[in-house]
This record gives sequence, C-alpha cells and structure tokens, in this order.
Amino acid sequence: MKKWAFSFSRGAADPAGVRELGGKGAGIAEMARLGLPVPPGFALSADLCEHYWTHDQTLPEDLAPQIDAALAWIGKIAGHGFDDARWPLLVSVRASPRVVTPGMIDGVLNIGLNDDSVKALAKKCGSERFAYDCYRRFIADYANAVGAVAHHEFEEALDEFKEKKGAERDAELLARDWRAVVGLFKQIAARGRRGGFPQDPRAQLFGAIEAALGSWMSPRAVLYRELHDVAQDFGAAIIVQTMVFGNMDERCATGAVSTRNPVTGARELHGEYLQNAQGEDLTAGLRTPLPVARALSAATPSLTLELFAELKACAGRLEAHYRDMQDVEFTIERGTLWLLQTRAGKRSAAAALKIAVDLVNEGVIAREDALLRVEPSSLDQLLHPTIDPNARRDVIARGLPASPGAAFGAIVFDPQEAEALGAQGRKVILIRVETSPEDIGGMHAADGVLTARGGMTSHAAVIARGMGKPCVTAAAGLRVDYADQSFSVAGRRFRKGETIAIDGASGEVIAGEVKMRRPELTGEFAVLMSWADSVRRLRVRANAETPADARAARKFGAEGIGLARTEHMFFEGARIVAVREMIMADDAAGRRAALEKLLPMQREDLTELFEIMAGLPVAIRLFDPPLHEFLPHNEAELADVAKAMRADPEKLRKRAQELAEANPMLGFRGVRLAIAFPEIVAMQARAIFEAAIAAAIATGAPAHIEIFAPLVLSRAELDLVKARIDEVATAVEGETGIRPGYRLGAMIELPRAALCAGDIAATAQFLSFGTNDLTQTTLGISRDDAGAFLGEYVAKGVLPADPFVTIDELGVGELVRLGAARARATRSDVELGVCGEHGGDPASIAFFESAGFDYVSCSPFRTPIARLAAAQATLRRRGVRE
Ligand code: ADP
Ligand code: MG
Ligand code: MG
Repeated sequence: MKKWAFSFSRGAADPAGVRELGGKGAGIAEMARLGLPVPPGFALSADLCEHYWTHDQTLPEDLAPQIDAALAWIGKIAGHGFDDARWPLLVSVRASPRVVTPGMIDGVLNIGLNDDSVKALAKKCGSERFAYDCYRRFIADYANAVGAVAHHEFEEALDEFKEKKGAERDAELLARDWRAVVGLFKQIAARGRRGGFPQDPRAQLFGAIEAALGSWMSPRAVLYRELHDVAQDFGAAIIVQTMVFGNMDERCATGAVSTRNPVTGARELHGEYLQNAQGEDLTAGLRTPLPVARALSAATPSLTLELFAELKACAGRLEAHYRDMQDVEFTIERGTLWLLQTRAGKRSAAAALKIAVDLVNEGVIAREDALLRVEPSSLDQLLHPTIDPNARRDVIARGLPASPGAAFGAIVFDPQEAEALGAQGRKVILIRVETSPEDIGGMHAADGVLTARGGMTSHAAVIARGMGKPCVTAAAGLRVDYADQSFSVAGRRFRKGETIAIDGASGEVIAGEVKMRRPELTGEFAVLMSWADSVRRLRVRANAETPADARAARKFGAEGIGLARTEHMFFEGARIVAVREMIMADDAAGRRAALEKLLPMQREDLTELFEIMAGLPVAIRLFDPPLHEFLPHNEAELADVAKAMRADPEKLRKRAQELAEANPMLGFRGVRLAIAFPEIVAMQARAIFEAAIAAAIATGAPAHIEIFAPLVLSRAELDLVKARIDEVATAVEGETGIRPGYRLGAMIELPRAALCAGDIAATAQFLSFGTNDLTQTTLGISRDDAGAFLGEYVAKGVLPADPFVTIDELGVGELVRLGAARARATRSDVELGVCGEHGGDPASIAFFESAGFDYVSCSPFRTPIARLAAAQATLRRRGVRE
C-alpha cells in the first residue's frame, strides 16, 4: 500500500523530507521532531499531486482511509474530533510545493465549522463574536478556493454591511452582526462552483484538498514554473493541521519573526505581530502590526515577556538547526505559543553578506558555505550608491533596470553639454531616445543615463554597466523632444536643467532630488572577498582605460587590466579632429603628421594608466573601431578637419564618401587597419613603450606590457604587427638604452580565429577571447539589432539565455574550448583570458573555469562579482556543495 499521509505532532513526525512533504511540510515536520510547539497534523505526499494530474484529476482509492486514520490520530492527540459536540476539531489546509510556486491556493483555515459547530466553538471559547468571525472567514476562504468566488466579493459585502451599521472597523461589529455577515457570505458562496458551501466537515476537508491539488495547474502557477525552469510535474504536498487561534481575544496574536534583521543582517529577533488576529491579517496589511522586539519594554496581553523569551529560544533553535537565518510564523493562543512555519529567511543583499560572514565567525558554517551562500550578482546592489530606503519617491516613469546604482542630477539632452557641465562638477542625468558610440563622452560625464527606447543589452545599457553608471532604458511612456529640450511623461513635462533621479536597480525615474546612500566596501564585504581570493583559481582583471576606471578597478580588487581600449581615448574633444585628420589623409606622410599630434596624448593617457596599475599587467588593445565611426557627421565637423589639415573641404567630402561603409562592423577595422596603415601601430607601440618606461621610473615598479590586436583572423596578420612593434622597440632601445619587454597577444573574436588558434598561438603569447564579437560573429546576430527578436528566442526556448549575457556554451563555448585546446597544443603556457561582457557573468565564469582559462576581465564594477563567482566555480569544480 502506498503511504499518502505523513503525520506530525510535537516531538515526532513520520520520516519524510522535502520530496514527500514539500518545503513548508518538511519545515513543520522538522520543527515537530525538534520538539517545538507545532499543532498536530499530517501532510499528504506530493506524489498525490502527481497521481491526481496523471489520473484525470481523481484521488486514489486508498487515500480516504488514510486521511480518516490520520484525522482519528489527530483527534486522539488533540483530545477532540470533527463531530465533538462540545469542542469541534478545526483544521487548516495549505499547499506545500517542493519548489516555491506562487499561484497555488491560499490556506483554507477553520475547516470543520458549520451551523452547529460554530455554536459549540462559541460556547467552548466563551466568545460568540470570535466563533462567527472564524466562520465567516472560513466560508469566504472556502468559496474562493473551491468555488472560485473572488475575495473582493466578500470584502465588498462586508464593507457595505459595516457602512449600513455605521461601523468603521471590524472591531466595532457585535456578535449578532457577525452572525448576519455569515448569512450574507453563505449567499455569496452559494453562487460558487461545485455546489456552494457544504455543512459536512469531511466534505469540506476533501473539497479543500482537491482545490489545493487543482491549484497546482492554475495558469499563474504554470506560468511561474515556465519562467523559472521548474518541472511541471514537481508537485506539491498538502498540509492538514489542527487550528490554533490568534483571534480569540486580546490574549491572542499572530505574527512572523526573522532570526536576523532582514535588511541589515544584524543578529536580533526581528518581526511583527498583530493582537487578536488570524494568519492572513498580517499579510493583508489592513492593520498596523507591533514590532516583536517591543515586547521587551512594553509587553502586551498576548506577547508577554515569558512568551517573547520562548519565541526567541525557538527561533534560535531553528537557526542553529538549519545553520541559516530563518523566517518563522507563529500564533499565540491565550498564553500558548505555536509555530506554523519556518523557512530560510528572505534577506537583502547586504544582509545576506553580513549573515554569511557572521555565521562563519560564530562557528556555525564553514567559509566555503559562506562563499556559496552569497549570490555573486547580488553584490551589484552593494557596489553602487543607492537611494535611501526611507526617501520619498515621486515616481514619474518606469523602465528597465539596465545598470544598477542610483543618481540624481540636472536633465541634459545633449552629450556635449553633459561633458561641459560634468567638467564643471555639476551632476547631470543624460537623457536620450537611445545612445550611440558618439555619446560615450557625455555618458562618462553624466551621473546617470536614461533612454526612452532600448533594452537590457542596448548600447546605453551595456556601456553604462561597463562604466558602473546607473542606467534606465525603455522608460515607458517617456517622450523626448530634443528641439524643445524637454521630455514629457504621464501628462507632466520636464525641462532641461530640472532635477530628476533614476534608480538603475528598480528602473524607476523619479522627479526631484533624493537622499542617497554610499556603498560600503569594508567590513564583511572585504572579509568575504578575501575568502573568495584565497579559494579561486581564475584571476580577475578589469576592462579599463580611463584613470577613473583604472582606480576603480584597483579599489575593487582587479589584478590587472585585461582590456584597455585605446580608441576610447580618441573620441574626446580636440582629439577626434586629429583622428579625423589621420583617416582622411590620402598618404602615409599625411597620416604620420596627424599621428604625431596623437602620440603625446596617447602617451600621457597610458603613462597615467601604467602608474595607477603599477606592477600589474596591462593589456592594451591596438586601434579597433571601424574608421567609419570617425567620419565627420556634418558640414561643421568637416570644416573643422579641413581647417586643421589645411585641405580642400570638397576633397575631404569625397574622401569621406569613399570611406563610408555598408557594414562597418565587418569592414575596415581591427587589425585590418594595422595592416593597411602600419604607421598607426608604430605610433601606438611608441606611446605604449614610452609610457611604460616613464611610469616605471615614476613608480619604481616595472611595467607589465601586453599588446594585442583585435579582430585577428590569421597568424600572418599578427606576424606583420609583431614586426612593426619590434622595430619600434629597437628604436626606443636606441633612444633610451632600455629594451622594452612586452607580450604579444591576439583577440579571438572571429570563428576563424578560434579555429586557427593553434597557428595563431605560434606567434601570440596570449589569447584574449572577445566573446561579445565572437557571439555576434558565431550566431550571426548583431547585438544592437537583437532587441526585436532575442526576447522571443529566449521565451520560446530557442536559446537557453540571452547569449550576450551568458555565454552560449553549446555554440560559442564550443569554439572557445576548441580554440583553447588548439592554442595549448602549440604553446603549452599560452595565457588564456576573456574580455567580453561574459567575463563578469557568474554562469559564464563557471564555464571559463571548466575550460581552464587563466583569467576573466570585466568592467571594474563587476570585479567583486567575478571574484566571488570565480571562487564558487572553483569550489563547485572541486565538488564542494553547500
Ligand atoms: P503562506 O504560505 O503565505 O504563509 P499559508 O497557506 O501557509 O500561507 O497560511 C496562511 C496563513 O494562515 C499563515 O499566516 C499561517 O500561519 C496561517 N495558518 C495556517 N494554518 C494554520 C493553523 N492550523 N492554525 C493557525 N493558523 C494557521
Ligand atoms: Mg505561511
Ligand atoms: Mg571586438
């Protein structure tokens, strides 16, 4: 015979775990085993749910006898049964899924009440008011769960009734009023499905059990499981448990406590309770609960000092038993404490971190456990300024939370104006319909970026995350009017110069200035990071080229720079004119003249970079972007360049037309520029060497120079580049007497490069996988244009995740593994790194760990996330489980 019913009562429980009892049921059974005060009851196995749904929604024949036996057993322990005329047994029915599944029925409480037993209950407890209050709650819950009658129908009827009686609050209604309400509720319940509300307690119980089983396939539950990758046949147990009452009178209460403060993580009993109330009143939020801790100074008739001490002791036992913070639901019935639920406590990112570290220091868990307990991406919330949780928010629009952190500042629409104001130290929020590469300067200068369009991987989102800048994209209903220098949303207009705030963690756009909170990088954060560093195998570098980013990278613990994009230095102000001169020149001499102007700028920037990173490796990528991006966009820009070059604007216009490309991303860019215009490589190599020598003298630490070429597709390209760099090294040696040492690498971002990595590694000492472009080139999907369809692809399961966020292991990952293996076969000590967005994504980091990479490189603000994710990846590879 299959065992369906698993009993529990204080001191004992039938042996079973989450598989049979679901999460809630397993917690209750465990509390019972620990001897904690749990009302007696039983759980129907989650296998029943499976049976129900594989047998045309019918119950197995051997179920009813087991339920009856379990009820009889409860009756013996509790001292009364369903048909006890003096003191009827009442029970609750709750769903207990194996994996959290919102959308199943709410608990049905007070099962067993009918027109007779309600009178018996009133007499037994000495309160008719209480008995009828329970009864009307039960009728409403039952009609909702079984008859699908909406809760609001009952709420509206009750409100109407109170209005008629001139009562403002439930408490003003008398016993006979509640009797009348019961009558009203029965009428409403009769309109429900399945024949309304039955008087027979056993029919009530079976009705509630079937409703709970049925709710497993409610559209909301099905959708939730689809979205969260939970198998549709996972199933839920059903808990049937003796009622305890928090709503008899003022000596009763119901509440919930956490064993630690869920916001700060502090070790203190934290929670709330309501006097004279039943479970659901707490979540309904109709009355203001009292803080549990207040019982210490101001005990109430329900929560006395003794009960507070008992509650604290129970909570402490549960935390020690589960070795983790717990959220515990309790009810007090006239001087007796009952526990109704325990589970791992919900907590903020800051609290999760503090609790994990504290538990190690308290000797409760090991460091490895702590490292595995903190969600790496949750650190994001801790690394950026956030809006003070107590601040008032006038939310004017909501968009996508594209890059975490919060900021406020003056509204600016023009990127150049943002740069100008930023230079004056003003706080600005840059607002664009969407951003493009020319806006980078303005984005850098702004405190936050808001776009009306875009998505989670649109230009603004990716760049802002890289900069560690708050960003909200796709703000619903936001209309930008560049001509008027204003935007409107929901009937309100905001003009240039007015202050707004954005919250990149929630996607909110807020009018006016808000109070902010600074991130904390010391204390528990630093401790956990040091543990992560002592465990992880992968090294973590940062993608950075500006001094601000490089400093942030060091502050966040990066062990070098994995990608310094030299062209980022060229977009700013006067420099772009010199770059334009270079690309518009029609011969090498003209190019050299322009490069002469760029050399000192590049050298200065790199000197500062080497100084900041003193002693750590700095991987500098040669000029990469399509020339197309630098072409003058309008007559004024063309005139600027013509003046600087003393050239004929007409001729320049022609040259610009020649250089324009149909598909710049696959056009004249990357190492192709170095092959066609070797003088660019010469200038960059000279700037790098001279900067490294100057920085080494200034800091006393030798510079670790790494130079790599973008968009490489063959070893021959790299050989040409190497010859040119070596020439410059020899020249510099002649001038300074110092032979600059450097390591040469190739960026692997084309499928051909991955396939030919064995050959490329004959010249390259390191390979840096540029997985952003490698994803674009392997999938043939342009990241900037993917917004229109990628969401559908993920929703329909064509791709398991956004491949620009988490590496496409099956496709791109295969190329990565293959390239890595071929490169190692040629050069056993070839250094393998990754410098795409994936370098900061925990799931991708696990992949790079398994592929035996040497380092990942990510945006400075993600380095702590990468450090923790790398530690977790190492632990999991070693088979350490929490
Ligand atoms: P949730 O999962 O939201 O906690 P439940 O279905 O567990 O909802 O229960 C709803 C409320 O009813 C909870 O506050 C719970 O503590 C309370 N409750 C459930 N069973 C009983 C019972 N036997 N006696 C008293 N209160 C109960
Ligand atoms: Mg609960
Ligand atoms: Mg690239």
